[in-house]
Amino acid sequence: MQRTPKSPTSHPTARYLVASDFDQTLSFNDSGRVLADIVGIGNFDEKVKGLASTHLVQQGAELTYLLRHDPDFRSVRPEHLVEAGKRVRLKNDVPLLARMLREGVEGASFQFIVISAAPLEVVQSALEGIVPAENVLGTQLSYDGLSNEISRVERVSAGYGKIVVLEEQELRFETSPDHTIYIGDGSSDLYVMHHVNSRDGLTIAVSESKDIGRIAKRTVLSDNATSVLAPIMEDVLQWDAHQIRALYDSHGLSVQGWDKVRTDWLSFHHAAAPEDALAA
Ligand SMILES: [Mg+2]
Repeated sequence: MQRTPKSPTSHPTARYLVASDFDQTLSFNDSGRVLADIVGIGNFDEKVKGLASTHLVQQGAELTYLLRHDPDFRSVRPEHLVEAGKRVRLKNDVPLLARMLREGVEGASFQFIVISAAPLEVVQSALEGIVPAENVLGTQLSYDGLSNEISRVERVSAGYGKIVVLEEQELRFETSPDHTIYIGDGSSDLYVMHHVNSRDGLTIAVSESKDIGRIAKRTVLSDNATSVLAPIMEDVLQWDAHQIRALYDSHGLSVQGWDKVRTDWLSFHHAAAPEDALAA
């Protein structure tokens, strides 16, 4: 049912591309760790941390490197990736977020895509029935015809790779860069957020990470995936809180708490000899 009918006499509809990260943006936990658990790898976090500290691969591409080059991951087959997707715990109301974006609102329509550094199979499996497979973009692997072992990394959508994918999608949907909205939580999103900001798009962080918080134009924290609609409606459509609450209400969600807090991060250290400075 169309809850926000558009009359033919209304303003022309502006089209927006809403691109979201997956791990810890639409999900609570990291799909790489879920995959590691499935194949019995206990020290996944240390492996990722160690690899990240070498800066050998782009931020967010650590799992892909491990899948291709770490002997512990040689047993991974496509069915494990699909299984990992099914086990990842999604944030609340991801299907509702997809539906609200699909329905659009008076004056705006939204194309919702997911761009993840995780293997495509994992994210498509996790979002099956929620986001059409062609709107889920992830790291592309290919497999040995006989053993089904991962034999090649075709393309990684992490770091700068996310920008490449995003630009392809802007062409596909014929949306202008200043009508791009990017949502992410972490380090694999930094490059793409800088890129979106530089072309007057909107960037939304969904974590308290300092790195991303100082780049993203807005930050929203919630266990409900539809929370990102609040900054979208405010910044893009200039809606007020009353209109935004009404939108949630019309989809059966009532906003219980909405604290607008601008966070300043401060840290201090004492100068070596403050008394000398005072005496000067
Ligand atoms: Mg993420």
